[in-house]
Amino acid sequence: MKHPLIPETTTHAFDRPRKRMVNDQLIAKGIHDERVLATMLSVPRHIFVDAALAARAYHDCALPIGCGQTISQPYMVARMTQLLELQGHERVLEIGTGCGYQTAVLSRMCRRVYSIERIQALHERARQNLRSARHANVMLKCADGLVGWEEYAPFDAIIVTAGGFGSDIWLQQLKPGGFLLFPEGDAGQHRLVRRQKQARGFTEQYFDACTFVPLLEGVHHH
Ligand code: SAH
Repeated sequence: MKHPLIPETTTHAFDRPRKRMVNDQLIAKGIHDERVLATMLSVPRHIFVDAALAARAYHDCALPIGCGQTISQPYMVARMTQLLELQGHERVLEIGTGCGYQTAVLSRMCRRVYSIERIQALHERARQNLRSARHANVMLKCADGLVGWEEYAPFDAIIVTAGGFGSDIWLQQLKPGGFLLFPEGDAGQHRLVRRQKQARGFTEQYFDACTFVPLLEGVHHH
């Protein structure tokens, strides 16, 4: 993949930090899904952040991506992806494209990713970042993810990468047996919740405490 500001000849410079990220932040903290590990070893995370931050792309933290938003910490991307238990055949809805890094990871692990971002500038940047043959199975749109993406529903899985209180529409747009994963709760005290849709209603499991940028209503053009 090309980054406008990082010459291709230097991209291998990031192979070692990426390997260290997988070993020290993912395997060491209990990520064990081989497909998640292999994927995060291969996706060049540094091209999804500003060139000025590329050296920190593999650090154990979230980083700013502009418009007051952040790219999630590598561990959180791995943890959420692992909790989706993808096999490869799925059509996944992602809410909160941001810079498109989680989208890229998902796209290599399932059949198709439909990703929604409410901030126009980020939506466009993600489109640039994902412009490569290896992400041909990604569809992006700038819209309010609180209403899901009716046109392509139902989905095999839905992942939300902004925190708050979700919308009932998400479960409606999920196939029975599918997972809806999101950081639920008030600002600063989110908890990952995974709901599995049943023929009637759903079952749920709570996981890690975490902090995400807020899930907001409406679309932001600028
Ligand atoms: N997965 C992203 C995380 C970005 S942060 C990444 O790795 O870069 C979460 C994103 O969710 C932000 O870009 C924010 O603008 C977006 N967001 C918040 N509420 C939203 C909504 N209702 N619909 C769509 N996107 C939303």
